[in-house]
Amino acid sequence: MVLMRVCPWCRRSEPWRRGCRCLPDPAGGPVLREIVGIDLALAVHDYDEVVRRFVLAAKNGGREDLLRRFGVQIAAVLAAQADNLPDSWGERRPTVVWVPASRDRRRRRGYDQGRLLARAVGRELGLPVQPLLRRAGGEAQEGRDRADRLSGPRLRCRVGRAPSHVVVVDDVITTGASVGAAAAALRGSGAVMVVAVAVASSGSNGVNHPPVGNAGSRQVSGLW
Ligand SMILES: [Zn+2]
Repeated sequence: MVLMRVCPWCRRSEPWRRGCRCLPDPAGGPVLREIVGIDLALAVHDYDEVVRRFVLAAKNGGREDLLRRFGVQIAAVLAAQADNLPDSWGERRPTVVWVPASRDRRRRRGYDQGRLLARAVGRELGLPVQPLLRRAGGEAQEGRDRADRLSGPRLRCRVGRAPSHVVVVDDVITTGASVGAAAAALRGSGAVMVVAVAVASSGSNGVNHPPVGNAGSRQVSGLW
């Protein structure tokens, strides 16, 4: 398959080489409202029409170029928000995980976009990426996607002992149910700090803190 590298917004081909700036820069990394089990939840963007198209193109088209851009942006936001991370966060190198797509979705697409995004983030931050979560039962169930949105997927940790510090990446945080379910599963296996970071936040999970000045210029490599 030849991947058409077209900007999902302006439709320019080879957009990155040709200076397309449609995907906005991270706005300092909005901090999301509290989500149970999550020490800090961050999103790079509000889920507006432009960002939505980029997310959908990355998901449905498996666009590695877009996922890599999201990975860079997520890494920049984590760096910009370092002061908001819990004090002991810097003591351990966290492990990057993702909320696995349902088996149906993975089959239909031929890949798990969460895994691709987690890999992009791990590469950017120099952190390990592990498939620590799996879906528990009922994943082929019709209408499960809707149930996931409302109450979050049922997740289990694959290992008896999870790493103590974990970053959960997701494409869009809406209610926080997905990353909350991930945090519960990880904490059940011993994780003590869970940070969630998404490409975008939408719906009721509004931003409740202003962006952190120009801290985005801080070097990502200094984080761990
Ligand atoms: Zn464009």
